[in-house]
Amino acid sequence: MSLHLMTIPCLSDNYAYLIHDPTTGQTAVVDVPEVGPILDALDQQGWTLSHILLTHHHYDHIDGVEDLLAKAPAQVIGAAADAHRLPPLDLAVKEGDTITIGTETGHVIDVSGHTVGHIAIHFPDSKLVFTADSLMALGCGRLFEGTPSQMYSSLAKLAALPGDTTVCSGHEYTQSNAKFALTIDPDNQALISRAEAVTAARAKNQPTVPSLLSEELATNPFLRASDPAIQAHLGMQNSEPVDVFTEIRARKDRF
Ligand code: ZN
Ligand code: FE
Repeated sequence: MSLHLMTIPCLSDNYAYLIHDPTTGQTAVVDVPEVGPILDALDQQGWTLSHILLTHHHYDHIDGVEDLLAKAPAQVIGAAADAHRLPPLDLAVKEGDTITIGTETGHVIDVSGHTVGHIAIHFPDSKLVFTADSLMALGCGRLFEGTPSQMYSSLAKLAALPGDTTVCSGHEYTQSNAKFALTIDPDNQALISRAEAVTAARAKNQPTVPSLLSEELATNPFLRASDPAIQAHLGMQNSEPVDVFTEIRARKDRF
């Protein structure tokens, strides 16, 4: 049976996620921006926390870990490369390692770029990938530590997952990402439609994440650096996709 997924809005625009394995009852939270909404969600579902998975060291993804552990003891898992700047880890992982939640196996993917050491976790059986501030809905994380080419290769790994994978990202930035995306890919009908749907969802205060990878491949400019229409729009016909990506990321920083 697939993992049950619950999306939890936290702070002003962060998301945490709960995944629950109905066979064993094991339950993991992915990132802990704050403790209150996560405890409420566990309570509401009647789930007992067993694991805390951390994607990267930024405070808005780890700040609630200590308080959460005081209320709900769990195994803390994060990147070995970031062990010095994450809360104390019970299990330190790197790309290629696996994480077991109940009957499901999660695969660790290095998605450095936003930070160096950022990980994503892919659960192929449940078709879920937790990407936090690497691949985001209609966007990607700002490059605080990594280089554009690092982020480009990180996104390429995620883009290669099956299209029906659900992308669970870390923030509600989709509406401003959509406005920017339309400046890069203005004639993309799928993007125009998605931007309208995002505006409608936000007007009702509904989350725009998670999203489907196939949707991101069709509309997210950061996954579309090889697209001839985007390259033509940027005056970068026949450029290396990594250079087109670098230009798109630079434009987003100025947007
Ligand atoms: Zn971050
Ligand atoms: Fe963040």
